[in-house]
Amino acid sequence: MVEAFDYTRGYRRLQPEIDAAIARVLGSGRLILGPEVECFEQEFAHYVGAQDAVGVASGTDALELALRAVGVEAGDQVATVANTAVGTVAAIRAVGAIPQFVDVCDDTLLMDAETLRAAVTRKTRAVIPVHLFGQAVPMAPVLEIARKHGLPVIEDCSQAHGAQWQERHVGTFGDVGCFSLYPTKPLGAVGDGGICVTNRPEAAQQLRRLRMYGFDGGRPSAQIEGVNSRLDELQAAVLRVKLQRLDDALTRRQAVADAYQLALRGQSWLRGIDDVADAKHAHYVHVVRAPNRARLLDALTAAGIGYGIHYPEPIHLMPAYQFLGGQAGDLPITERACQEVVSLPMFPELNDDEIRQVADFLAASDRLAKPEA
Ligand SMILES: *Cc1c(COP(=O)(O)O)cnc(C)c1O
Repeated sequence: MVEAFDYTRGYRRLQPEIDAAIARVLGSGRLILGPEVECFEQEFAHYVGAQDAVGVASGTDALELALRAVGVEAGDQVATVANTAVGTVAAIRAVGAIPQFVDVCDDTLLMDAETLRAAVTRKTRAVIPVHLFGQAVPMAPVLEIARKHGLPVIEDCSQAHGAQWQERHVGTFGDVGCFSLYPTKPLGAVGDGGICVTNRPEAAQQLRRLRMYGFDGGRPSAQIEGVNSRLDELQAAVLRVKLQRLDDALTRRQAVADAYQLALRGQSWLRGIDDVADAKHAHYVHVVRAPNRARLLDALTAAGIGYGIHYPEPIHLMPAYQFLGGQAGDLPITERACQEVVSLPMFPELNDDEIRQVADFLAASDRLAKPEA
């Protein structure tokens, strides 16, 4: 069996360092907002090339606090995609804002700038492009549209730690870049976590206030209405160990993706996701599209190959968001993708045998074009 994802292998590989980091924190008596979080914030900001970083409790919180930090309020509209994790939309709703869903490009499944251009209204107050599957959205047209309308850009980088576009890290193009540190993500904690990066000192200050009841520095006096959303010292200490190995992990993910892509050459039943030009991919998941997904899933199961689906249902059609008025047919490319996508095994600790098993399966996938007689 080739697992779609296995956390324990990554832990075992780094176990002495991770265990030592945890013991260091437990022995220190500092568990919340101490030196580990401060160091991780500096190291992560340095890694992506941002001026500052602020650790928070999850990726969803990172997006919510970023929206608040740039002044988005209840009733404002925020343009984003429906082909994303629900957290993107939950964050918009947490501030009482209204998501405006725009469609994606068929070849990359990333936000379509021309649909965004057409969707912006007088009530639009921010844009959240999502660097989906670990691949950077080409940012120039998004930034051009946002600038023209004076809209802040919050990048959802939750799947794209280390991804770049034109040699710049995602998260540094917009006003605030938001990363989830959920265990499965390219940089994952041993529980929940998130981090915002920004080059705007006033946004960083607001984020630091918002994550702890609106306090400014050590004084327990709320200057603004905040929440409790802190990254803890244990998570930060483990993340510091893993950040040092992130580039190695991304290199391995790229090798896995290359093997899968090579295997698919000459096959036409399955379609891959196109690479964005002039970009570095973080390969959070490796997605293929099947004209008949049920047939692909049965064949994967029979071959002992695990899979995931990112995502089976577009958010505008989910029951919770029906009140927004979304209907089937609103976002044709997104809706079709949700019926076709399958995520193949992808994590840095996949061994060469496992990669070969998946590649062999892909190299013979045209046999699935016709149902078995
Ligand atoms: C994981 C994810 C989130 C939510 O992050 P959490 O840490 O689970 O709150 C938001 N957006 C995207 C694109 C994600 O992949």
